[in-house]
Amino acid sequence: MEVVQLNDIIKSSKNILITSHINPDGDTLGSMCGMYSLIKLNFKKKCDMLVVSKIPDKYKFIPNIDLAKHIDELDKSREYDLVINVDVAAIDRICDAKVLFDKAKKTVNIDHHKTNIGYADLNFVEGDASSASEVIYSIAKQLGWKVNLDAAICLYTGILTDTGSFRFNNTTARCLEYAADMIRIGVIPNDMFKHCYETYTKDMALCQAYCVDKAVFLDDDKIVYTTVYKKDMEKFNTDEEFAEGLVERLRAITTTSISFVAKEMKNGGCKISMRSKKVDVAEICGLFGGGGHKFAAGCTMKCNVEESIKKILHEIRKHEL
Ligand code: AMP
Ligand code: MN
Ligand code: MN
Repeated sequence: MEVVQLNDIIKSSKNILITSHINPDGDTLGSMCGMYSLIKLNFKKKCDMLVVSKIPDKYKFIPNIDLAKHIDELDKSREYDLVINVDVAAIDRICDAKVLFDKAKKTVNIDHHKTNIGYADLNFVEGDASSASEVIYSIAKQLGWKVNLDAAICLYTGILTDTGSFRFNNTTARCLEYAADMIRIGVIPNDMFKHCYETYTKDMALCQAYCVDKAVFLDDDKIVYTTVYKKDMEKFNTDEEFAEGLVERLRAITTTSISFVAKEMKNGGCKISMRSKKVDVAEICGLFGGGGHKFAAGCTMKCNVEESIKKILHEIRKHEL
């Protein structure tokens, strides 16, 4: 993939949209706003930014995130010259924004999910990168783009959160070198840690403790899962944000091989978040239309929580744990 093509495409595009995935995390939001800053700085162009679900409060610190529009606020008949998806593993992850993607003159897909099939005109998918933010920084370096503090804060956020604070197995010398570059630009690691991790309200912490307390341990404790129902969040007066880090907490137990969280969705379906130490969970989630990475993946099931758990357990048990 000729990275210089991206320069030409951005140069020749008047209207540009940058799109993030449903249930946004630090990487998709950091990548979106990072790309916004880089294009503004290097091409003197202002892009539109799009989210398809609520931005978690803790990510409000990301520079320029307040400029992002929700899909309901955007004119869906608009034809963009260029739509850039960031951290979007599959096209259905941008939901209704797909109409804007389909209508665009050119499309770009910047991602790091190995299950990404390369659904755009131009695809920058690096399965070995820690995060889409790392891929963007690599592109910026190759193209000699200037990187300012705003962009560095955004991209550091993506690398920090997708590596679980530089701890997961996707932490590499390259992503640490990039993070070091960003620190030299002015990013303060402890500030970033506080923004991304010291953000639980009392209600959120108590709701998370409740969900750990009701976890179910199976097969010599090699499988552990918990459930999150709407009524749980109502009881603790919190929203879905409380669950961040929950599935990793269950994986952190010494006996765990696979952990998952089954979350009840508004439409009656169920969102599965899965983590593993050995088995490829992107493969398991792929069977249900989802995907992700070897040790961190997810899928959305149409059936209810109980049915979803049954199906997931059936697939998990086909593997040696
Ligand atoms: P989560 O459990 O939601 O934190 O997701 C874990 C990883 O799997 C992330 O990299 C997600 O982007 C990816 N992922 C989650 N759900 C899906 C899905 N339905 N399709 C593809 N990738 C997914
Ligand atoms: Mn993501
Ligand atoms: Mn990511």
